[in-house]
Amino acid sequence: MNGFEFNKAVILEQAKDFNSFYVYDEAVILANMATLAGNFAGVEFLYSLKTNPHAEVLKTVLGGGFGGDAASLNEVKMCVEAAVPKAKIQYSAPGKSMFDIEEAIEVSTLVADSLGEVLRINEVAKSKGLVAEIGVRINPDFTFYGDEGMAAKFGIDEEQAVAAVAAWLALDNVKIVGLHVHSKSQELDGGVLLGYYEKMFALAEKFQGLFGYELEFLNMGSGIGINYEVSDAPLDLVELGGKVGAMVADFNAKNPKMQVYIETGRYVVGKSGVYCTKVLDKKVSHGKTFVILANTLNGFVRPSLGKMVTSYKADAIPCEPLYTSAGAFQFGALVESADLEVVNLVGNLCTGADIVAADIELPKLEVGDVVVMSNAGSYAAVLSPMQFSSQIPPAQLFLTVDGKVVL
Ligand SMILES: *Cc1c(COP(=O)(O)O)cnc(C)c1O
Repeated sequence: MNGFEFNKAVILEQAKDFNSFYVYDEAVILANMATLAGNFAGVEFLYSLKTNPHAEVLKTVLGGGFGGDAASLNEVKMCVEAAVPKAKIQYSAPGKSMFDIEEAIEVSTLVADSLGEVLRINEVAKSKGLVAEIGVRINPDFTFYGDEGMAAKFGIDEEQAVAAVAAWLALDNVKIVGLHVHSKSQELDGGVLLGYYEKMFALAEKFQGLFGYELEFLNMGSGIGINYEVSDAPLDLVELGGKVGAMVADFNAKNPKMQVYIETGRYVVGKSGVYCTKVLDKKVSHGKTFVILANTLNGFVRPSLGKMVTSYKADAIPCEPLYTSAGAFQFGALVESADLEVVNLVGNLCTGADIVAADIELPKLEVGDVVVMSNAGSYAAVLSPMQFSSQIPPAQLFLTVDGKVVL
């Protein structure tokens, strides 16, 4: 059942001080960054801050040379704080306010999400007396799996963007210098990703032709998935990176000015984190054993959400980043005993929805023992409703490569 690694000694030590906590392991983050940086020649990576903006995580990832994929003005500011250069802070999100645009325009690369937003950026740039070099997010006429577009709240439909080029060229205070597409997260089929990248290179050349000048960047978004389920085969990033690197080399031979970016959140930090929670109580009711844990739904919401989704529909389709699959999180028990017991893992909130696992077999847990949950580095603390019920929220701890634990 356990099938995932965690630092038992560090967790037991921290469990003396905290009833619930995350541990993010810097060594894992650095190894993941090295895998990306070392295998995808010609590609620059942007870290999607929304996945985990913990200050120490940002220090490691942004300090380690990754740029920032910012989904809000605050995330832009975090990148600026970390001294990320403007070109490598790409602010792409639907529904930016005028305030967001005004504050971000001089310190980041805005990626316009709609036809209207291009005009609003032009207006702000004009009021500041500058020409904003921006990207546009395209909703392309293809997906990961096919050659038709689909309705989306993100970006500008390819057809509408084609029709808008002439008007964009006439704007005095905006110059479009790049393209962004983010079509899907959490893909574990390397062939699908390669097919998508191929279509992205063609899209970039098509738009460059329409603009009539060399574009400066092509941001291909995310897609690189991680193995959540025990049965998931991880992507082979050496193989994928090698092929992408060759494609980028070809592309850059024809388009030397265009920097290729890939965005990733979960690959960098997803597997670096575990969630640890202590057994607060234990009881038997109508023949079922309930192990009551600190802060489950309100500390690490995704296992509870997964349980809820699958109670309605066992084979529900993924809805990232809220729901991935039925067995996306593994549970480990930090106990010496080898005796096993079938239990329901539940939390300490006053709602029946606060259940993470029903009828699973775990080593026998007693009050005070620690349960560890996997895949808790990305879309974990940030998604959890920690204010609900006014509990003491989980701590977020960072284990440095020198073995120090930073709060
Ligand atoms: C959330 C997001 C990502 C990150 O996705 P991961 O699956 O965590 O890598 C990348 N790009 C955009 C535009 C996003 O919204």
